[in-house]
Amino acid sequence: MKLLEERIRKDGKIKGGEVLKVDSFLNHQMDVGLFAEIGKEFKRLYDGCTVTKILTIEASGIGIACVTAQYFNVPVIFAKKNKTKNIAGDVYSSKVESFTHGKVYDIIVAKEFLHPEDKVLLIDDFLANGSALMGLITLVREAGATLVGAGIVIEKAFQPGGALIRDQGVRVESLAKIAAMSETGGVTFCGA
Ligand code: 5GP
Repeated sequence: MKLLEERIRKDGKIKGGEVLKVDSFLNHQMDVGLFAEIGKEFKRLYDGCTVTKILTIEASGIGIACVTAQYFNVPVIFAKKNKTKNIAGDVYSSKVESFTHGKVYDIIVAKEFLHPEDKVLLIDDFLANGSALMGLITLVREAGATLVGAGIVIEKAFQPGGALIRDQGVRVESLAKIAAMSETGGVTFCGA
């Protein structure tokens, strides 16, 4: 998606070669006009697919998921990061290793919101090692729901998550795919 690639080039900040900061339009301040274009693009890519729920993860996926859901006309569920040691029985849960902090935490979704008849589209801001997306896939599988695919805003294709998840037969659509990045050389997109 050209508009997004241009924005990343203009406003993205590379930290240590592994982390891309996009706080000025995606992760802190949010450019809602850009979000609308992102939502439309996910709708175009998944046009013809039946989607009944969009599932994302707290917190940075929520804004993108909500705007995208307007084009699909379906509810959004965000998996909550579980803060207590005990997980109550009426939730689906899985484990995620945080890319930015390295810590492992549980994510949960209440059983009342995800059902076997649901057709679920996953949405997230970044795909790096794939742990967040795998955690969401596990929740969908636990619920016995159908996984339609995933929509990712920025995939760092030089990290292993994309290949890991596509190898499982899951459809992953990423709007900007970064082949390489460095503090000195900037960002190179796949296919550029
Ligand atoms: P993964 O689980 O695929 O390793 O990482 C995905 C999650 O980590 C995303 O939900 C996102 O919040 C965060 N993340 C991974 N890489 C980056 C990055 O380069 N920049 C930012 N801002 N977040 C990232």
